[in-house]
Amino acid sequence: MAAAPPLRRSDSARGEFSPLKHFVVAKKTISDVFEQLLNYVKETSEFVEEISGNKALQNIASQDQKLEIQAYADKLAVIQEVLARRHMKVAFFGRTSNGKSTVVNAMLRDRVLPSGIGHTTNCFLSVEGTDEDKAYLKTEGSDEEKSIKTVNQLAHALHMDESLDAGCLVRVFWPKTKCALLRDDLVLVDSPGTDVTTQLDSWIDKFCLDADVFVLVANSESTLMNTEKQFFHKVNERLSKPNIFILNNRWDASANEPEYMEDVRKQHTDRCVNFLVEELKVVDREQAPNRIFFVSAKEVLNSRMQRLQGMPETGGALAEGFQERLKEFQNFERRFEECISQSAVKTKFEQHTIRAKQITEKVKSIMDAINIEAAEKRVAALEDREYQMDRLEFVKNQLNLLIDDIKKKIKAISEEVENKVSSAMEDEICRLHVIVDEFHTDFHPSPHVLKIYKSELLTHVEEGMGKNLAFRCSSAVHASVQSSQSYMIESMLPLLPSSVQNQVHMLVPSRKFDLSYDLNCATLCSDFQENIEFQFSLGWTALVHRFLGSVNAQRALKLVDQKFQVPATTAPSRPALPLTRTPSSGPPSITAPPNSETALMTQEDMMIAMATNVASLTSRTSMSVLVVGGVVWKTVGWRLIALSASLYGLLYLYERLTWTTKAKERALKRQFVDYASEKLQLIVSFTSANCSHQVQQEMATTFARLCQQVDQTQKELEGEIRQLTAKIDQLETVQSQSKSLRHKATELERQLEAFTNQYLQPPQ
Ligand code: GDP
Repeated sequence: MAAAPPLRRSDSARGEFSPLKHFVVAKKTISDVFEQLLNYVKETSEFVEEISGNKALQNIASQDQKLEIQAYADKLAVIQEVLARRHMKVAFFGRTSNGKSTVVNAMLRDRVLPSGIGHTTNCFLSVEGTDEDKAYLKTEGSDEEKSIKTVNQLAHALHMDESLDAGCLVRVFWPKTKCALLRDDLVLVDSPGTDVTTQLDSWIDKFCLDADVFVLVANSESTLMNTEKQFFHKVNERLSKPNIFILNNRWDASANEPEYMEDVRKQHTDRCVNFLVEELKVVDREQAPNRIFFVSAKEVLNSRMQRLQGMPETGGALAEGFQERLKEFQNFERRFEECISQSAVKTKFEQHTIRAKQITEKVKSIMDAINIEAAEKRVAALEDREYQMDRLEFVKNQLNLLIDDIKKKIKAISEEVENKVSSAMEDEICRLHVIVDEFHTDFHPSPHVLKIYKSELLTHVEEGMGKNLAFRCSSAVHASVQSSQSYMIESMLPLLPSSVQNQVHMLVPSRKFDLSYDLNCATLCSDFQENIEFQFSLGWTALVHRFLGSVNAQRALKLVDQKFQVPATTAPSRPALPLTRTPSSGPPSITAPPNSETALMTQEDMMIAMATNVASLTSRTSMSVLVVGGVVWKTVGWRLIALSASLYGLLYLYERLTWTTKAKERALKRQFVDYASEKLQLIVSFTSANCSHQVQQEMATTFARLCQQVDQTQKELEGEIRQLTAKIDQLETVQSQSKSLRHKATELERQLEAFTNQYLQPPQ
């Protein structure tokens, strides 16, 4: 608000602290509160908009709340504008020429409105302040500012303007610098005269509903007219307890007849009191005298004009009793100002203050609701986060426990498989002759056919053994692998992501787990060399074998080979495998170069071995044989020798004749069984370890897949925890913001309450 210009001398009579200031200060106070309130509601509107647009915080602020606050902001902006235009309004009524214009001028301390020429128009004239230097008027329905320099110009303008309808409003703007009353937001409305119209109702609707005070300017030279009374009755019907002042004007005229003055005053007072108290019931009897004044507006105006022009106030011929009348006028002015400012503050600001309180209350409750919602959501998010953190901890610990457990399980099942395969192989090796016997194909001792035969035999053995092993182990292994996998899945199921829990079967390989035994007989037995030459069972080699055991016999035979330098035969040499079967009989036809083993073998060793065997023989049976032989010799003589020799020859012949292809095949098969059994024995542990490794691999793969999913669970949980933490932070911010906005609302409520207490409470 612009600083008020310094008071002129003429204004000082009103005193610097006019009661009108009450309204002015109240208006400024409430306008300030409204400005703060509007800013506050805008701030909350932005806040609500922000949080309702935040997806993570959805449902904290509803769309309705957002719209509600926006509507409040709009409403407050309108009220603020209305408040800025608020002023105190006093309307003057009375019959024409009672001196209404003169009263207005006297109060304004200047000839602002034309007077004394009857009422110039049927228009209402309002006088309000302008910050401009010059006076101007505005007619209804036009924004044109018509400049007026003098009061005569105004009278002329009003008189000449034919466009002015009866009952229309002409607004006179008078520089505030010239008049203190106007600076204090007072608008004075002069009416055409209650006697000139029949349209009292429309006047009231148009000009009186927002008037704070009505002044009935009566003529003290006559009694109150019915038309005047009629008007106020109508006003009283429309407004509850209007503030009405009655000025009995032209009281100076009574000075001419001082002897009747008191009686006349009493008569007028009684009638006026009766009118206000009994008829209108707008004021009680005690207060009524404060609303009735006997004044001379003309005298007051003249005196004030003289002062304005710098002439002495008492100058000129002043009628008797002027000072009393002037005092009464000033008294009226004070009462009027007190009344209008009190009343206007109440009528102009009370509803808005109540509305402001309601809006503040509503916005506060929205902030409360948001605060509560945010608090609840935060608590829920905290609980959720706690739960997720516990779950993450659980998953981590459980996984560690399970890793140990499942490792043990895998180890156990691997060992189980290893044992199973190993024992199955042992059995199968023992039963190898059955598989070999089952093999039937063309056999011929020729090397070409033999080669094919052996290769087919190997394939047969490989297949047969594979099949048998599978029959013995596979289904059991498969079952235990499957049960272990089920165990793994079951124990890890709670740790898997929920999306995976319903389809865990996807994690287990759909193919049936099958062990691959992979005996690789072809390579294993590639060195197999059969010996299907005829060998007499009582031949030299066989006998040596019988006496010395196969190992020593071999050595001995090799030694003999060296000693006698027997020429080499066509028989192919064989590697000296420790478990390779050596031909048990037959002539020593194999020449082998002395290898390291034979080189180490000394004759002494040989003799010791032979002696040991002979000694053993001697010691155990030989003696008895010799004794029996001697007895037999004595008894039967040469005949027996001849018989023995012929039996020996017969046996040789028999063996020689039965050495058929079939027998050769049998011999080969037997040799093969022996050879392959030894070879297979060698790979038992390797194969079973391989099978166990396969199982281990299978289990480890499934376990790795499960662990991968558990990792996924952990990642998901960690992500969720991060999100929840962010959400909790946001909710905390929302909570503190809504709390601080709530505090602001409380502060505004406090200001509104203070305003109510100071300005709107009825005077004590
Ligand atoms: P309105 O028609 O009610 O506005 O009355 P005016 O203010 O125009 O006054 C009509 C006439 O009465 C003017 O000539 C005034 O000078 C005169 N008049 C107004 N007030 C007084 C007063 O208090 N005493 C006397 N003697 N004349 C007055």
